[in-house]
Amino acid sequence: HDLSRIRNFCIIAHIDHGKSTLADRFIELSKIISERDYKDQILDSMDIERERGITIKSQAVTIPYVSGEGVEYQLNFVDTPGHVDFSYEVSRAISSCEGALLLVDATQGVEAQTLSNLYLALEHDLEIIPVINKIDMPAADIEGVKHQIEHDLGLPADEAALISAKMGTGIMELFEKLVKEIPSPSAQEDAPAKALVFDSHYDPYRGVVVHFRIFEGSFREGQEIFFMGSESRYTIDELGRFRIGLERTGKLHAGEVGYFLAGIKTISDIRVGDTVTDYKHPCKEALPGFMDVKPMVYSSIYPVDSNDYQELAAAMEKLKLNDASLVYEKDSSLALGFGYKCGFLGLLHLEVVQERLEREFGLSIVFTAPSVMYEVYLLNGEMIQVETPADMPESSKIDYSMEPYIKASIITPTEYIGNLISLCEEKRGIQKDMIYLDEKRVEIIYEMPLAEVLFEFYDRLKSVSRGYASFDYDLIDYRRTDLAKLDILINGNAVDTLSQLVFRENAAYRARKVCKKLTKEIARHQFQIPIQGAIGNHIIARENIRALRKDVTAKCYGGDISRKRKLLEKQKEGKKRMKMVGNVELPQSAFLSVLKTD
Ligand code: GDP
Ligand code: MG
Repeated sequence: HDLSRIRNFCIIAHIDHGKSTLADRFIELSKIISERDYKDQILDSMDIERERGITIKSQAVTIPYVSGEGVEYQLNFVDTPGHVDFSYEVSRAISSCEGALLLVDATQGVEAQTLSNLYLALEHDLEIIPVINKIDMPAADIEGVKHQIEHDLGLPADEAALISAKMGTGIMELFEKLVKEIPSPSAQEDAPAKALVFDSHYDPYRGVVVHFRIFEGSFREGQEIFFMGSESRYTIDELGRFRIGLERTGKLHAGEVGYFLAGIKTISDIRVGDTVTDYKHPCKEALPGFMDVKPMVYSSIYPVDSNDYQELAAAMEKLKLNDASLVYEKDSSLALGFGYKCGFLGLLHLEVVQERLEREFGLSIVFTAPSVMYEVYLLNGEMIQVETPADMPESSKIDYSMEPYIKASIITPTEYIGNLISLCEEKRGIQKDMIYLDEKRVEIIYEMPLAEVLFEFYDRLKSVSRGYASFDYDLIDYRRTDLAKLDILINGNAVDTLSQLVFRENAAYRARKVCKKLTKEIARHQFQIPIQGAIGNHIIARENIRALRKDVTAKCYGGDISRKRKLLEKQKEGKKRMKMVGNVELPQSAFLSVLKTD
C-alpha cells in the first residue's frame, strides 16, 4: 500500500458537458468490465437516470491505471450530477477528493454551473484541471473556450486537456496529466482510524451499505467501529471497493475510498457527513462533515392507499440513506390521511423522489402543490413559518407576509438578452447587474422571488434562449409580499391537498389554469362536476366536467369479450391510483398536474 500511487478526484461540469461519458471512457480503458457487460453512461445505474439521460447521484469508482512510465496507480473518481438541484451531491463528492476535472463543452463554453462547481472545488482547495470536451464536434470553438477558461474561470487555459469523451480522443493524455498534477492523499497510516461517511444506500439483500473515504489509519473486516455523530457502535462484516458494483477486499487504508457493511439495523445511526473511527482507539476529533442542506421547496406526500402508510414510512427512511438532502416530518390531511411533509432542493428533486418511491419501493403516492417557506406575521405579533397551505392562518389574523428572494445569475449569448429580461420581469425580478463576459456573452444578475423560479422558470429560460442560457441561484433574504391561499373545490368540496399558496395578483390566472388542467385529468362521471378556484369565499375561476352520456358507455363496453376484460383490468390497475374525493374519483395524475402550471 503506497499513498503516492493513489489519486482521488471528481469530474464536475455544467449539465450535459460530458461527465458521465468521460467516466465511461475511464472505465472502458481500465478494463474492469468485460465488453459484453459494457453500456453507455454505465454509472447512471438508476432507471430514472438512464431514461432521463441525467446523473442524479454522485457515483464513486476505483480503477487501476498503469502510466506511460509503467507505474501502477489506483484512481478513485466520482462522477457527479450537473443540475442545480443536485449540487449537494457535488459538494459531498468534492470533500472526498484532492483534485477535480472541470469539463467545459467546446460547443457551449462556460455556463452557470461550470462557475458554481468551480467555486465549490476552490473552497475545498482541490487541484483543478480544466478539460475541454467534445472537440470532435464541428461547432467546437476551442480557442473561444480557452479564452473563457482564462477570463471567466481564472484557470490556465494553455494547460487545458483537449478531449472527445465520446470518441475517446485525448483520454490517455488526460490520465497522464491527472496522475502528475493531482496530489496524492496526505494521510497518516499509523494514526487511529478516521473516515468520512460521504454517502450510503440500502440494498434489499445486504442492508445498509456505508460509503466512506479514509483519511487516517485503516479499516478491516471484524473491526469494532464507532460513529462519532450518532454515537453508535458496530462491527464491520464486509468491506471493499467500488467497481461496477462492490468488490470485497477485506481491508482498506488511509487515502482510499470504499464501502462497508456492519449489520446496521437502526438506519438513523447512519448520517452522511459523520466521522467513523475505531471503537477502542478512537481519533481525537471528528472531521468537519457537511453543511446542513436548506430545502428550497416543500410539499407533502401521501400514499394513495392510506393503508400503505407504514410502507411509506419504511421507504422514506431507506431513501433518506441514499439522499441526504431529503428532509421530512409527519403530516396529515383530511382528504389523504397520514403522510409526510418534505423539503426538497427543487422541483426536479421532488420529481426524482416521487419516482424513486414508486419504482424502488413500489409505492403509489400523491404530492401536494409545492411551496416555498413563507414567514407570516400575525396581528398579535407572532411569526409563523408557512410551508404548506394547511399551515396558513385565517386571513383575519394576518398582519403581513414575507417570501424568500434569490439572486439569480444568468449567462447567455447576447442575442437573447431581450427575451430573458422580459421573462425575469414577468417573474417579478429586479435587475441588479449586467456584465459583458466578452463580445458574445453576458451575465445578467436578478433578484427574484424564489416561488417564481420554482415553477416553469427553467423551461421558459431554455425555450426563450434556444437552450443557450444557463442559470444558477442563491437564497438571499425575505421580503414583503401579498400572499393568498387558493383553494380548489371539486363538486363543491375543497380538496386540501390541491390548495396552494400564491402571490395574490397571480391568483385568478393560476386558478383558471389549475381548473382547466383538472378538467383534462378527471374522467367524466354520471353527473356534471364543477371545478372551482376560490380565495376564502370568493370564487375566482370555474370549469365544468360534463356528465357522461349513457350511449357512450354502452358503445365502449359492448362487443369483444377479451377487449372488455382488458379494459376492466386496466381500470382495476387505475383504481389503485385513484383517490375518492366526495363522490368523485381523482387520479394520481390530477394531483401532479397542478404542480405544473405551464
Ligand atoms: P453529463 O450531464 O455531463 O454527465 O453529460 P453526458 O455524459 O450525459 O453527455 C451528454 C451528451 O453529450 C450525451 O448525449 C453524450 O453522448 C454527449 N457527449 C459527451 N461527450 C461528447 C463528446 O466528446 N463528443 C460528442 N459529440 N458528444 C459528447
Ligand atoms: Mg452525468
